[in-house]
Amino acid sequence: MHEMSIAQNLLEIIQEEMAKHNVNTLRSVRLNIGQMSAIVPDALSFCFEVIVAGTELEGTKLIMDIIPLKGYCYACKNEFLIENYAFACTFCESSNIETLAGQDLSVVEMEVD
Ligand SMILES: [Zn+2]
Repeated sequence: MHEMSIAQNLLEIIQEEMAKHNVNTLRSVRLNIGQMSAIVPDALSFCFEVIVAGTELEGTKLIMDIIPLKGYCYACKNEFLIENYAFACTFCESSNIETLAGQDLSVVEMEVD
């Protein structure tokens, strides 16, 4: 289950941020999860709970927003949503595209108690 290592990385990021801002407990953490990141939100939530059990972060909730996959077409210079993993421009069907968003996971905000 790769969510376990993701949860571990996530915890490190959160702890770094907490140290930076002198925070000891959190109510929730809001995340953006790219549609393409292959992360299963429920699995990530579960792994995170397991990792933080018994620590000062026990009970911190993960709020996850799924970010759709977006592409930019070099041929017609349009931005479009990539659906069903069809990596071609929806306007001109060119495959000369770049992926703009929807591939990774990022911490958007943390709510302090
Ligand atoms: Zn195009």
